[in-house]
Amino acid sequence: VRETGSTNADLLARAAGSCGPQLSGPLLLAAEHQSAGRGRAGRSWLSAPGHSLTFSLAWKFDGGLQRLSGLPLAVGVALAETLDRLGQPVRLKWPNDLLKDGDKLAGILVETQRAAGPAGDATWAIVGIGLNLAMPDELEARIGRSVAAVPWLARMDRDALVAAILDGLVASLQQFAQAGFAAFGARWNLLHGWQGEPVAVLDHGKILHEGLAAGVDDAGRLLLDGEHGRIAIAAGDVSLRMQ
Ligand code: ATP
Repeated sequence: VRETGSTNADLLARAAGSCGPQLSGPLLLAAEHQSAGRGRAGRSWLSAPGHSLTFSLAWKFDGGLQRLSGLPLAVGVALAETLDRLGQPVRLKWPNDLLKDGDKLAGILVETQRAAGPAGDATWAIVGIGLNLAMPDELEARIGRSVAAVPWLARMDRDALVAAILDGLVASLQQFAQAGFAAFGARWNLLHGWQGEPVAVLDHGKILHEGLAAGVDDAGRLLLDGEHGRIAIAAGDVSLRMQ
């Protein structure tokens, strides 16, 4: 579509059956522009028309929500591996960001909707990806921090770029459905951008934990080596800062 508020919000409404025809299978929704892009915990994802890729994929998984806790990280691995194949190396920041030269290049937002049906329990995952292709100064000023973009990818045909990302994404979602995050843990750790770095885990600006980032475990939890040994942190709504 040319413009919408949020591709994730649109697909969530479709999955809930509250807007448009009920989803029956996987559906991709890409927008030239999102006017109300979302991040985690009510934060915003900002983009300028024609300067970013913003799209969401609805995918149905058997079982309940708990199975999906590592999904945002698995999607990060899929996107990072595709960008690497295209010639743009990136690193991962726990739980849901892609970094280029230390700055945020892409964000991932997974939202879920229970899909009760005759076949038993299932869950719709709405996998949203925002990737900066170019970053005009005024947009970076609005975001309020230094962010990254891949201008040379902006010259690639937009549909071909989405198709390349989708290929890797679909293969990863299928793999995740079979094996869960265990199939992605080692790959995530290889791409970890803050391995061994001193970090703080924040909840709404308040420091919950401090320590050295030691990668993720087989459930996608962040391993943190702190004063009292190693702890594992589930993503929830917490954020990570380098110290
Ligand atoms: P943080 O990156 O601050 O640790 P997070 O990963 O929890 O936070 P998300 O919810 O994934 O954050 O993304 C929203 C945040 O990303 C916004 O609060 C803003 O700081 C930043 N942001 C918004 N738009 C962009 C963009 N186009 N490129 C890079 N970063 C952005």
